[in-house]
Amino acid sequence: MNKHKKKYILIPIITAIISLVITIAISINKDSKLEKTYSDFSKDIASDKVDTVYLTNSAKIKILLKDGSEYKTDNPRSSSLKETLLISGVKVVENAGNSAMEILPPVVLGLSMVGILVLFARANGAAYKKYSSVDAIDVNSTENAKYSFKNVAGNEEAKESVNDVVDFLKNPQKYASYGARMPKGIILYGEPGTGKTLLAKAVAGEASVPFYAMSGSDFVQVYVGVGASRIRSLFKKAKAQGKAVIFIDEIDAIGKKRDANKAGGSDERDQTLNALLTEMSGFNDNDGIVVIAATNRLDMLDSALLRPGRFDRHIEVTLPDVAAREKILNLHLQGKPIGDINVKEWAQKTSYFSGAKLESLVNEAAILACKEDSKYINDSHMDKAFSIVVAGHEKMDRQAIKEKDRRITAYHEVGHALVSLCMLPEDKVSKVTIIPSTKGAGGYTLSIPADHMFHNMEYLKRRIMVLLAGRVAEEIIFGKDYVTTGAYNDIKQATNIVTKMVTEYGMGRTLGLLSLDEINNSFSANPNQILDECKTLVDNLYEETKQLLLKESDKLETITQVLLEKETLLSEELYALAN
Ligand code: ADP
Ligand code: ZN
Repeated sequence: MNKHKKKYILIPIITAIISLVITIAISINKDSKLEKTYSDFSKDIASDKVDTVYLTNSAKIKILLKDGSEYKTDNPRSSSLKETLLISGVKVVENAGNSAMEILPPVVLGLSMVGILVLFARANGAAYKKYSSVDAIDVNSTENAKYSFKNVAGNEEAKESVNDVVDFLKNPQKYASYGARMPKGIILYGEPGTGKTLLAKAVAGEASVPFYAMSGSDFVQVYVGVGASRIRSLFKKAKAQGKAVIFIDEIDAIGKKRDANKAGGSDERDQTLNALLTEMSGFNDNDGIVVIAATNRLDMLDSALLRPGRFDRHIEVTLPDVAAREKILNLHLQGKPIGDINVKEWAQKTSYFSGAKLESLVNEAAILACKEDSKYINDSHMDKAFSIVVAGHEKMDRQAIKEKDRRITAYHEVGHALVSLCMLPEDKVSKVTIIPSTKGAGGYTLSIPADHMFHNMEYLKRRIMVLLAGRVAEEIIFGKDYVTTGAYNDIKQATNIVTKMVTEYGMGRTLGLLSLDEINNSFSANPNQILDECKTLVDNLYEETKQLLLKESDKLETITQVLLEKETLLSEELYALAN
């Protein structure tokens, strides 16, 4: 659109240049012409040398001699001149001086200049309008009625988390009568393509309220203040509807943590962020407007965004596990002419696929089937589609590496879980998974510690054993030389507990009941000795964990196999397998 305007502005510029050149050429040409005095001209007439006289109203008139040469002379502006000339047998041409060739270029030049001015003014006006006017931003509620939770397969936990928001949007008065405050802002975080946008649309659809979507990058503009005004107009539009879901994708574009060493930061981004926060505190808790933002990285966000009353509900949207992948595949295969497709098997083969990738797998298969004029979409189409989808992102041999990673992750996580079951039976292991999440790079084991005001030494030691168990399992299965960096976080936490035990909680031998912190204020303790003690303690606990897991190696093996197959084990399944 803007490009078009730029093209149009070229036209008057070009004509202006051409006409300017012609005008100058003509005037140079004119000036180079000879001039003679009026008396010389009279003599020429007398000697019958003159062929034509061009009469005009200007100061000079042009004379053409019979020998073909031309000159100019003063215009006597006498009415009798013409008669004199005609009597002398000289041809007279009237008003020839203002020939079209001479008048046209300056006129075109003038018109072109006007054209340039008008177009410039219009373009600027349009640009100004585009960035500042309320109606200019392209946000309109979309047909949300089409979307519901049925369109979101898997993601059960996230769906459950947003379900009460749907309920709130349906009857805000009910919540108001209980004095309940609903979250104004929800952040959905997780890998790209896991269905965050879909979930936000579904919330709007389920509650049958308008859905307004924009991306954080739409707000970040070259012109300062534009982002802020876009935020205001977005909220204005939504508020005019009463209830609404406002969705801001890529919230990190405006809400990224401020750069510590870049004081001041970007003015534009700060203004935009402030406008967003102001708008969010501007509507009442029970107005029926919910802002849902999405990001790939929660830890990248400015803490100002995450404070209570702002985006205070954070919901993780994870990559789907086998069961969820099967549901997503089925959902996207729905309504398509499917032949012999083993959906269960495809769910198994597509570990680490996001919902978006699964959708594109099905779509590629449909395209291939269509190209072949095949009656149905078959496994063979899925096979080819799989290569297409996978090759786009990673090579086939990456798939093999992934399989190995999966095995390592599975043993590691089952190690944690088993030792937790044996050593900390009071802590409930609620979930073991090999699907990566922001909680753990490979997979994670989620346990809910029993509530205790104090932890005794025995408990802390057992916690350390659980932390070390992942690495222990790796060593038992793959050998000492093949342990991975996956235990990075576990080791960090274990070290933290051990040092606290020895230097702060009075549970060690070297310092006894002395606190290292306090000692260091007066004189320095021997760090080597403390280090030695911590190391010995951890080494012993590692060995103890190893003995435990070796004794339980059958369970380690069987549970790992089930985990590899299901990718996620909830507590009931895990406890059933472990007993
Ligand atoms: P995100 O916002 O997390 O990047 P989207 O919501 O834009 O992901 O998902 C892109 C597409 O992938 C969706 O339009 C849908 O076709 C498919 N998809 C992703 N997750 C799911 C899911 N859980 N169920 C069904 N389809 C999904
Ligand atoms: Zn671990």
